[in-house]
Amino acid sequence: MSKLVPPHGSDRLMPLLLGPETANEEIKRAAKLKKVPLTSRETGDLLMMGIGAFTPLDGFMGRDDWKSCCDTMTLPSKKGLFWPIPVTLSSTEELANSLRVGEEVALWDTETDELVGTMKISEKYTIDKAHECKQVFKTNDPAHPGVQKVMEQGPVNLAGPVKAVSESFFPKEFQGIYQRPAEARRLFEQRGWSTVAALQLRNPMHNSHAYLAWIAIEVCDGVYVHQLLGKLKPGDIPADVRVKAIDALVNKYFRKERVIQGGYPMEMRYAGPREALLHAVFRQNYGCSHLIVGRDHAGVGDYYGPFDAQKIFNEVPPGALAIRPLSMDWTFYCYECRSMASMKTCPHESNAVIDDDGQYRGGARLLLSGTMLRKLMSEGKPVPTEFSRPEVIAILKQYYDTLEKKVEVKLHSYATGKP
Ligand SMILES: [Zn+2]
Repeated sequence: MSKLVPPHGSDRLMPLLLGPETANEEIKRAAKLKKVPLTSRETGDLLMMGIGAFTPLDGFMGRDDWKSCCDTMTLPSKKGLFWPIPVTLSSTEELANSLRVGEEVALWDTETDELVGTMKISEKYTIDKAHECKQVFKTNDPAHPGVQKVMEQGPVNLAGPVKAVSESFFPKEFQGIYQRPAEARRLFEQRGWSTVAALQLRNPMHNSHAYLAWIAIEVCDGVYVHQLLGKLKPGDIPADVRVKAIDALVNKYFRKERVIQGGYPMEMRYAGPREALLHAVFRQNYGCSHLIVGRDHAGVGDYYGPFDAQKIFNEVPPGALAIRPLSMDWTFYCYECRSMASMKTCPHESNAVIDDDGQYRGGARLLLSGTMLRKLMSEGKPVPTEFSRPEVIAILKQYYDTLEKKVEVKLHSYATGKP
């Protein structure tokens, strides 16, 4: 009998991915079906349903579920199950008109030009996109990357139960990191864990993240360092570089028997508080009892208050989720405390001053911005080891160097007129 938390709203995981033989049959059958193109976000959601991370969803949501999910975070079709963010599939009006309810369609990933699943259409409906944005993202600002994606999606939503036939490039490209919930649960059980804290990562792991993970290990059996492998916004560090940098840190600074790494195929929506709740839902499916929620979890720009993602857990009805937030304050290194600390523990309010050469010049709290970090690295200046381990910095520096070379090559070819 497993000591782990049960999956969300179900006593077992409900992966929608067909086994290899049935999948092959389905792929043959799908050749005769009309294609519905998926955006990268929709593909990510389908893959999450495929591996059982979105248990107990069985397909893309219909209108009632969409509306109720936006307004009250519940799904009428699942007896009022708690669900914080709509999982929907959009289409052009033209394509939707050519399809009839009851028809089966091939779900096509436009980025890889590959069949990822099939769906039997149960409903076609239009939505008020601005309403979805206001409810889910708390803003209609088109500059918000999540809002932008919703506003750009097709005008008609298609709903229905899905079958997944592929995990796309994730198992191959992220071998050893990409994991299905059942695999993660097996690993936790093998170690005899019952309480597991998930650390959500979409950035390289610096000392402040490592500190959060250490605190989690003090209060739980282990920590699950869980990386997003789906798409980010332009300018973010790509997943393969992140995987390398996190590996370097975990291998050297963590006890092996207390940490497990994994990755999942979803794309960021940057919905802040609502997304923190979705992160909790699928971490519960992965077998985690806790989700570390730090400052501005899943946020972007200044759309959300720094601790909104922690506060929103108070709105979750009792018993709706088995996973609990492990709320933590802003963490940093303090030169006065001479250790990692947080706003909750450290009484020294001044910020540390790091000069243009990366040298410490006084003050207490070391809060390096991403821009400052990148500037130091690109100029070959030292990054304070109190901020990040040298192993991590070396990998990031290598990435930025190749990036700059690429930009130079591009400029050069532009200038000379050569392709
Ligand atoms: Zn201090």
